Order: sequence, then structure tokens, then C-alpha cells
Amino acid sequence: MRLKCIKLAGFKSFVDATTIPFPSNMCGIVGPNGCGKSNTIDAVKWVMGESSAKNLRGDSMTDVIFNGSNTRKPVNQAFVELVFDNSDGTLIGEYGSYSEISVKRRVTRDGQSQYFLNGTKCRRRDITDLFMGTGLGPRSYAIVEQGMISRFIEAKPEELRSFIEEAAGISKYKDRRRETENR
Ligand code: ATP
Ligand code: MG
Repeated sequence: MRLKCIKLAGFKSFVDATTIPFPSNMCGIVGPNGCGKSNTIDAVKWVMGESSAKNLRGDSMTDVIFNGSNTRKPVNQAFVELVFDNSDGTLIGEYGSYSEISVKRRVTRDGQSQYFLNGTKCRRRDITDLFMGTGLGPRSYAIVEQGMISRFIEAKPEELRSFIEEAAGISKYKDRRRETENR
């Protein structure tokens, strides 16, 4: 599984429709302070279902919508789409047979979010399910931000175990069992 590109519009500083391609397995994003490097990481976490404004460096969930600049008016919605190459079949389930998987989230000023999988409207849960066990998710270890290393070091045994379970690919099954037991 590989992230092929991020498409976004109205998200944080990316007011115009923008496509950020990732042509190979290792890519770097460089640029001056404030150009939007961290905003692209926020975009990835946001599509994955991040529901804490603080984790997206904002005060409220609608802070991700472009709120205007000296030269541009604010806009009323934001969208981000991640396009994954799934030709190795890492992502399983309903969409597992697709060699390309698109995951999209849209939000409007009233705070309503919508999620889409390969263009079809879906629940947030469908997105978290799809990525569970792959290491990718809003708070998973695939995104290592400032402070994350110390979080690993200082983690309580239960939290450390949850990282290991995710890496081993069993968190998905534990989650399903928990859900079944709670029914
Ligand atoms: P650094 O090198 O300092 O880490 P960076 O490239 O990571 O910089 P970001 O944090 O991605 O920079 O981008 C910050 C910019 O995004 C700021 O100029 C900020 O005003 C802008 N920004 C964030 N949210 C919004 C928003 N909702 N609307 C408009 N601009 C926004
Ligand atoms: Mg930054």
C-alpha cells in the first residue's frame, strides 16, 4: 500500500484545489516556515477520521476550513482526498480487490463531515475499519510527530501493547470481538 497523492481544496492554507503527488516510496516535503508542510500531515490525519481539533492544531473542527487571508475571502467547505495504490492488496475487505483506493472527507461550516470510499458515501467507521491493522490511522504509529517518541517511551504498558497489537495486525480482530461482546 502506498499513498499516491493527496488532493485538497479549502483545507487550511490550501484554498485552491491542489494535488500533491508522491511519485515514489520516499518523498520529502520542503519549504519555508508556514508554507503548509504540517498542514499536509494534518490533512492525512483528518481524512483518517481525526475528531480532535487539538490534534489538528486548531480550536474547533471547522478551523480546518480556509478562513481567509489578506487577499482571499474565507471559503465554506474543505475537502481532502487520499489516493492509495493497493495493488499489493494490503487493504482488505469490501474494497480490497481495488488496485486504487480513494478515501475522502468533506466538511462544511456547520461542522458536518461526510466520508467517501472510492466515491461512494460511507461512514467514518468504514474508513477506520479499512485502515485498522495497517499502521495508518489518525493516531497510529505511521505518523511520527514531534513528541511521539517520548510518548512511546513514557507509554503505560496497556498503550504500548496497543501499538504492538496494531503492528502485528491483530487490533482489528480485537476491536471486532469487543464489539460483538458489547452487543
Ligand atoms: P514550519 O516550517 O514552521 O513548521 P509549515 O510549513 O509546517 O511551517 P504549516 O503549519 O503547515 O506550516 O502552515 C501554517 C500556515 O497555515 C499559517 O500561515 C496559517 O495561517 C495557515 N493556516 C492554518 N489554518 C488555516 C486556515 N484555516 N485558513 C487559512 N490559513 C490557515
Ligand atoms: Mg510544520
